Parts: sequence; C-alpha cells; structure tokens
Amino acid sequence: MEQNFFRLTPQQALQELHAASGGLTSAEAAQRLAKVGPNQLAEGQKKSALAVFAGQFKDLLVVILIAAALISMFSGNLESTLVIFAVLILNAVLGTVQYFKAEKSLESLKAMSAPTAKVLRDGQRQEIPSSQVVPGDIIELEAGDLIVADGRLLNSWSLKVNESSLTGESEAVEKISSAISGEKVALGDQKNMVFSGSLVTYGRAVMVVTATGMETQLGRIASLMNQTQQRKTPLQKNLDDFSGKLAFLILVICAGVFLLSVYRSGMTILDSLMFAVALAVAAIPEALSSIVTIVLAMGTQKMARQNAIIKELKAVESLGSVQVICSDKTGTLTQNRMTVQNIWADGILTRGTDLELANDAQRALLKIALLDSDATLGHTAGAAAVGDPTEVALVQLGAWFGVEEQAYRAQHPRLSELAFDSDRKLMSTLHDTDEGPTLYTKGAMDVLLARSTRLLTSQGPVPLTPELRAQIEQVNRQQSESGLRVLAFALRPLPSARLLTLEEETDYTFVGLISMIDPPRPESVQAVADAKRAGIRTVMITGDHKTTATAIAKQIGIFGEGDQALDGVELEGMSDAALDEVLPKTAVYARVSPEHKIRIVSAWQRRGCVVAMTGDGVNDAPALKKADVGVAMGITGTEVSKDAAAMILADDNFATIVKAVLNGRSVYANIRSAVQFLLSGNMAAILAVIYASLAGLSVPFQPVHLLFINLLTDSLPAIALGMEPARPGLMDQKPRDPNASMMDRPMITRVFGQGLMIGVASMIAFYIGLAEGGAALASTMAFATLTLARLFHGFNCRGPESIVRLGLGSNPYSLMAFGIGILLLALVLFVPALEGLFLVAPLSSANLMWVLGLAFAPTLCIQISRLIRGK
Ligand code: ATP
Repeated sequence: MEQNFFRLTPQQALQELHAASGGLTSAEAAQRLAKVGPNQLAEGQKKSALAVFAGQFKDLLVVILIAAALISMFSGNLESTLVIFAVLILNAVLGTVQYFKAEKSLESLKAMSAPTAKVLRDGQRQEIPSSQVVPGDIIELEAGDLIVADGRLLNSWSLKVNESSLTGESEAVEKISSAISGEKVALGDQKNMVFSGSLVTYGRAVMVVTATGMETQLGRIASLMNQTQQRKTPLQKNLDDFSGKLAFLILVICAGVFLLSVYRSGMTILDSLMFAVALAVAAIPEALSSIVTIVLAMGTQKMARQNAIIKELKAVESLGSVQVICSDKTGTLTQNRMTVQNIWADGILTRGTDLELANDAQRALLKIALLDSDATLGHTAGAAAVGDPTEVALVQLGAWFGVEEQAYRAQHPRLSELAFDSDRKLMSTLHDTDEGPTLYTKGAMDVLLARSTRLLTSQGPVPLTPELRAQIEQVNRQQSESGLRVLAFALRPLPSARLLTLEEETDYTFVGLISMIDPPRPESVQAVADAKRAGIRTVMITGDHKTTATAIAKQIGIFGEGDQALDGVELEGMSDAALDEVLPKTAVYARVSPEHKIRIVSAWQRRGCVVAMTGDGVNDAPALKKADVGVAMGITGTEVSKDAAAMILADDNFATIVKAVLNGRSVYANIRSAVQFLLSGNMAAILAVIYASLAGLSVPFQPVHLLFINLLTDSLPAIALGMEPARPGLMDQKPRDPNASMMDRPMITRVFGQGLMIGVASMIAFYIGLAEGGAALASTMAFATLTLARLFHGFNCRGPESIVRLGLGSNPYSLMAFGIGILLLALVLFVPALEGLFLVAPLSSANLMWVLGLAFAPTLCIQISRLIRGK
C-alpha cells in the first residue's frame, strides 16, 4: 500500500543499512522529501481570518459602541453612526492583522527552537533540522535527544526511552535492536521500535527511519497533541483583570451620570444618554491589551536577535524581576574549549606535550584517553572536531603524538560501552586488547579513585596504599586550584567479553590523571559584574570538582570575600533548614546532581526570590521547569532540556542571560510607560465629561472623537513607548518585586494628576469655544486640545526624567508617532469631507493658537517640574 510504503520491516531496515552504509545520498533524501513532505505534524486547526475577525466583536467595548451608534442614529446623527461602524470595522481589521502578525512571530521563534537530528548522509554525520528527515534516513541517538521520527533500531547500547508523549507512562522503557542480532521479531513488536516525540533518557542507538510526519504514531494521534493556545502572561492577566474592574466601575459611574443629568440638569433622556455613552467610550482603554501584546512580542524579537530565544511569553516578565541566576560553569561561564595541560602517571607530573610513550603507565593513559572516547578530530582541511570538548582535548593529545584516533580505534574494536552520564560522572568501554578483554574507564577523579584498588606503574600494577592515594589527591588538588579540570583514567581486565553492566565499574587499576584548561569566557566577568550591580546574585552550579569550580568562580568574580563552596555530598547531608542558613553565602555548588539543582532552586524560592536556572542535560528538565525562568543551551543542550526551558540561549553564553534580564526589565518599564500614557489620557476625558455633566454643559466630546483618540492617535505613541531603548540606569536598580502591582500608588497618582491637567486644559478650550461660537465650536476645541495634549503627553511618559535628559531623538518612533498623530488630527479638522463625519466646526487661527497653547501647557508644567526636581 502506498501509504505504508515507507514502513520498514526489520529485514528491509537491514537492507537499507547495507545498501546505504553511508546513509542516503542528498539526492535520494531530496527525492523522498518531495514525495512524503516535510517531517512535521500538521498544524493544529488554524483559525480562519474570518473567525479571528468575528472574534474581535466579542467585547464589552463593542456592545457599548453599538449602543453609541444606535443612540447617535436616534438623535438624528446618521453620519456619526456610520463613522462608529466604520471605526468598529477598522478596529476589527487591525485586531485581525495583529493576531496573524503575532502568530507569525511566534512561529519564527518556534522555528528557531525546532529540534535537529544527527543523520548519516552521503557517508557523513550531519546535523539537520528534524523537518528534513525522511524515511530511510539513519539517525544516531544519544541521551537527551528527542526522537523526531518513528524508526527501527539497527544497533543500541543500553537504550532507554521515555514515551510519555505517546503512552502517558513517565517511566522510561528499555529498547533493544533485535533486528541486528537477527532475532525473529514479530512486526507488531515494539521493543526494537522507537517513536517520534519520545525522549532518549539513557544510552545510545542507531535507528533507521520508517515513518515521518503525519505517518508516525504521534501523527496519527496528532489531533490530541494540538498545541494549547498561548496562555496570557501574569501581567496581561493582571491588566485584563484591571480593565474588567474598570469597565464595571465605569458602567456604574455612567449610570450615575445619566441619572444626574436627567434629574438635576433637566436634560433630555437622549442627551443624558449621550453623556453616559461618551463617558463609557472615554474610560475604556480600548487599545491597552493589544498594546501590551505588541510590546511583549517586540521584546521577544529583540531578545531573539541578541541570542535569547523566548519560548514562553511570561518569561519576558519574570526575567525583569530575576534576583538569582544559577548558572552551569562549563560552556556557559567558560568557553568549553578544553586543551590538555598536564598529565600525571607513574608518579610523574609533566606537561601533556612531554608524555613519554616509552613509559608503560603513561602509554596506557593515552590509550584509554583515545579508546574510551567518541570525539573525532576533523582530519580533512577545514573540518571541525566533533564531540564532547573534554574528549576532543583527549584525541588532540593523541594527535600531538601522531596517533590518529580513528585508525587506532579500528585496531582495538569496542565490544560494549556504558555511556557517560553526569550522575555517575564516568564513561566505560570494553575492548579487545593483546592482554584480553579490558574495561577502560575515565571520569571524575574522586569517583574513580574510590573504586580503585591498584595503581599502574611502569613496573606493573601495585596495591593502592593510603600514601599513594594521598599523593594522587595532592596532585588533583594542586591542578584544580589553578582552575584546571582533572579527569582520571583506570582499567580493569575482564575474564571474558560481555555486555557491560554498571556493577562492573569497580575494582579498578588506577592509571593516571589528565588536567585540562577551559578558560572563562572573556564576557563572563563583565556580565557577572553587571548582574551584581543590578542586585542579582550569580551562583555557579557545576558537575566539576569543588576546587576547580571555586578557582574559576574567583576568576570570574562569582566567588568573593566571605563566600563558600559546597559539594554534592555536603549538600546531601544538609537539612533544608541548614541549607537555608548557608544559602546567601554559597557561591559555588560543585559535583552536584540534577536533583541537587531542584533543591537549590527551591531553597531560593523559599526566600521569595525569582530564580533563573540553566541546564543542558536530560536530567536537568525538572529543575528547569521548577525555576521561574528555565534556561537551556541552544548549542550543547539536549532536546529534552530545550523542551523544558522557558528560554534558550542560542550561543550558550552567560552574558546573554544578563542581556535578557536587561531586556526583560526594559520591556516591563516600557509597558508601564504605555499603560500610564493610555490611562492618564483616558482619565483626562473622563474628568472632562463628568465635569461637563455636573456643570450642566453640553457633552464636550462626541463618541467618534474619543474613538478617534483612543484607537488612532493614542495607539501610535503607546507603541512608540514600547520601543523606548533601555534606560542607562536600568541595571543599577534592584530587581522589581514580582508581587508588586503595576497599578501602585505612584502610578495611580500620576494617572490622576496628569489626567487632571489635560482635562482642565480641554475644558478651558471648551469654555473659550462656547463663548465664541456655541456648542459645536466648544466641542471641536475641546476635542482638538485633548487630542493634541495627549500627543504631547507621549513624550512625558517616555521616562521619569525630563525630555532634555532623555533626548528628543533617542526614541525616533515617538517623534514619528507624534508626526502621524498631528497629521491625522489635521485631516479631521481641515478636510471638509471629514468635518461632517467627525462633527467638527471650522477653527479660526486664533482658536488654533488657543488649542496649541492649552494642549502644550500640561506637558510644559510636567517638564518644568522635572527639570527643577532633576537639578
Ligand atoms: P557543568 O559546569 O555544565 O555542570 P561539567 O562538565 O563540569 O559541566 P558534567 O558534564 O556533569 O559537568 O561533568 C561532571 C564531571 O564528569 C566532570 O567534572 C568530569 O570529571 C567528568 N566528565 C565530564 N565529561 C566526561 C566524559 N566525557 N567522560 C568521562 N567523564 C567526564
């Protein structure tokens, strides 16, 4: 059947492997890709443009506007009704466009964090985007990988897979490659099958892809897996909540104003209704929620350009209030570019370049370094080394002595292996040697020495006496103190070749030590200092040795006067209360396991701190989820950790986290400015309408006026405020209290005070118009003054400082928004065709001068008071 054409039986899988032992060719892969399509699940039901458009009318605002339109119609003002409907449609169109733009930007972020697969193509190992994988591709799997297609195992080494995305079962299942061992496997047997969406939690394997995209098991249940809608961030929820309460309050006040107008001022019911409607339209911050979304989305785009890929929108906010950053050392604070410095074997400590091949113990050290490792050097010109940097350093050591690792490994075939994992801190391989099957192990010195009973010398193995142990520990300490990473090497002859188990990693003959340098990233020092200035504590959490970690932490500025380091064993022996006590002064946690990371995050969170935590390994996922901002490594991180994180560092660099914190702070500050701007403008209109109704005046603004301001002339400066560059002092402030509301007392005072000033200016304009030309001119002058004053007010909201200090040109968008706002206002005031629609009376140049002066007055007062305060 055509559909199942690519579902391979074990025999076919083997044939595939033999036919293409170098994998598919690029041409074959392209052909298959054209046939089966990209390897991805069909997108969940996407909303149609019509549905999104219709959704824009489901708002309280719309109900009020429709009421306004009907009331206008009954009062004989058909033009106004038409304008309101036109505005409603325009608003819905803008909302729809913005929805799809946000969708697109989220998709581009998603694409940046999409998984990759290590395939064998054209005889070479290549890392390609998972969407390019086709049936027949041969994929290498290792711990931490996300399996991106269904496939049959061709070979596996202690492979364990978490299939919870398919089965809901969180326990990892063991998989074996019975296809290669020739065992008869029923086609329905899933022991040798792995499935798209599963995670490799342990071991390694090679698989041949049997199905991709919607043909996979996951694809078949894809409708269940449709990604949930993007959730709102706490800030968005907060503001929605606020808007809801505000709307309710406004309706109550509107009812009050309506009754007051009818009974006290003796207005007609229709006129009183016009007041109530004007008030409702004035008060509801129509643009608020979309402005917040736009500013957050722009923030994520900026962060992505600076290598911080945000996966959850709420991380942008949390980043702004981060108080503690728990960072890995290797690769994040350091360069992860290891070079062998010194070696120790047979009692001799010497430089790596001076290793003596004639010395049996030193030769054995090099042998283990090359065989018990998977890294390869790029032997063709321009080719890069592939593998774990620790292991790359070891094969480089071999290359210094002319030993080509691949040829050497071919002479001593690997029979079995136990992959490295950061819990065990060991890696073992079993080889056929002249002395018979021998287990070679490398790993953390403390772990390996504890499991050794003999020491290899040039005279052969000798018992490992306490004196010899002390000597090895002394060398380790001395090397670690200068910040070098020390790796230990040991061997164990086995009676026969067999599949290795963890129990065999014991009773070793210790061979020696190799120390390597991994210099700190030059930018780490500055970033740690910046974080400190910003009131953020940086803590190093590493699998490395305590002494090495402390030495590096000192170089980078993490470990200072009065600080201390803890290791995993010490941490284990501590109660939570004891940990809470030492937490503030512990700058380094060494030899920790992923479970310890959760304890450390929890301890900081118990103190009420917002914690960012980095992680790259498969077991780091729970800690990443537990942290307020889980940060995964884009280059070296496992797919599992990327899946669990809220942010991915495209460059694995600590300095990028600090930059992201700055951006998070700046996004929050900008949203705050935009909220202040929108609410204070609305407050001005509310106060003016309430005043007019109490004073028995005619309604100062028509609903179309307020809609014009709220949806057009106010939105542009609000977006421009969202693009305000980060203020220089932003990183000199303490982190924001995550529980503090944005609508705090100073904010409310500013909204009220600034609103009052603009409201007063508008009403003065109203009175001038009233005295000169009656109600129509009064309303036109009030409207023009309100619009213009709010445009000027955009500059006040750029920051707490005066505009002289901020610099008028430092945010060009605010100038552009101001310019376009003026243009729109001029169109409404001076284009005869629009005059009727917007119910404006012609203005004389004297009127215009008044409007200009009154509109500028509030901004002038605010700026002068800031200048005086600044001095
Ligand atoms: P981080 O600072 O990111 O936690 P790390 O590299 O120090 O990184 P792990 O990768 O967990 O932490 O390594 C822990 C220890 O395991 C190292 O200090 C080293 O002794 C040992 N180790 C590291 N890589 C290997 C490897 N490829 N094979 C054997 N042992 C290794």
